[in-house]
Amino acid sequence: MKVFVDSTRCQGHTLCSMIAPDAFQLSEIDGTSSPVSEVVPPELQDAVREAAQSCPEQAISIEE
Ligand code: SF4
Repeated sequence: MKVFVDSTRCQGHTLCSMIAPDAFQLSEIDGTSSPVSEVVPPELQDAVREAAQSCPEQAISIEE
């Protein structure tokens, strides 16, 4: 499973990193999110799916 964040959509709400803190990191410059690793380890996949569904900007996409 891979995860991507569309930086043009991300508004830095931080929701994804609250739901999956080990999978998303926030930029110290503009607060936008990016995956810690594009390839998601198995133990983080459920949290990443939840984060993708919770993103208000639909900025997170997943490739199963
Ligand atoms: S929840 Fe969506 S908009 Fe908010 S920081 Fe994460 S990717 Fe960006």
